[in-house]
Amino acid sequence: MKQNDRRNFLKKTGAVVGIGGSIAKKSSAAPSVHWGMIVDLKRCVGCKGCTAACKAENHTPPGVTYNVVLDEEVGTYPYVRRKFTFIPCQHCRRSSCVLVCPVKATYHRDDGIVVVDYDRCIGCRYCIGACPYGARSFDYGHNYSDSAPISSDIHIGHGFDNNERPYDAQPSPEYGENRKRLHKKSPIGNVRKCTFCLHRVKRGLAPACASTCMGRAIHFGNLNDPEARCMVHGEKLQTLLVSRGYKRLKEELGNKPSVYYLT
Ligand code: SF4
Ligand code: SF4
Repeated sequence: MKQNDRRNFLKKTGAVVGIGGSIAKKSSAAPSVHWGMIVDLKRCVGCKGCTAACKAENHTPPGVTYNVVLDEEVGTYPYVRRKFTFIPCQHCRRSSCVLVCPVKATYHRDDGIVVVDYDRCIGCRYCIGACPYGARSFDYGHNYSDSAPISSDIHIGHGFDNNERPYDAQPSPEYGENRKRLHKKSPIGNVRKCTFCLHRVKRGLAPACASTCMGRAIHFGNLNDPEARCMVHGEKLQTLLVSRGYKRLKEELGNKPSVYYLT
């Protein structure tokens, strides 16, 4: 169905587009929450502020990355251009990582966010191999410092012992737990990933990447609510999807990501 035909059809029937392609009647009952992202790659300038914001917010150590911006050159010379693709965890509705975890340490919350229970994770890394989006990292215990004053209360990882800066002792606020990365203690030895900044979402704030993006390329909100607006920029999420159209990454794999890319 063409875009205009689709809009007229929806108008006539009073239906709304359920994100993910289903069509649902408007209802007076409060919709349940399913958090998700809508990314407008045409607005992305490739500054990687989103990646830096995530590092700063979650205090992730070297080698642990929760989102990336792919930088590609597309076209044929001389008609080439740069293409940037922001890729966080896709918070799949049918997650490969959840399916393979042998101890159920990674699971879906009721609000759609895929999380890791550090106390259950045994560090087998099956989920890293299973994730088709490269969204997971293993925390080997490395820190940022290799020649700095000794911080008295930490003794982290291997290779950099006794050289940690206070920065390295900063706990990550993820899951609202503020765990310090102490020697051989979780989350060292666990797999880590983007949580959609769950600790911020619980306080009514959007993830740090969406809040920081200078290109206004990242929208965040409740995908289950047809009236929901982006928590950062205020655009109605359904309108963005219907007016622009969208795709999801590697849709053919059937993971059903909760991150949508406007076309
Ligand atoms: Fe693109 Fe926004 Fe990330 Fe910058 S912060 S790289 S504009 S998505
Ligand atoms: Fe799991 Fe990877 Fe999907 Fe994230 S993107 S939910 S880590 S399969």
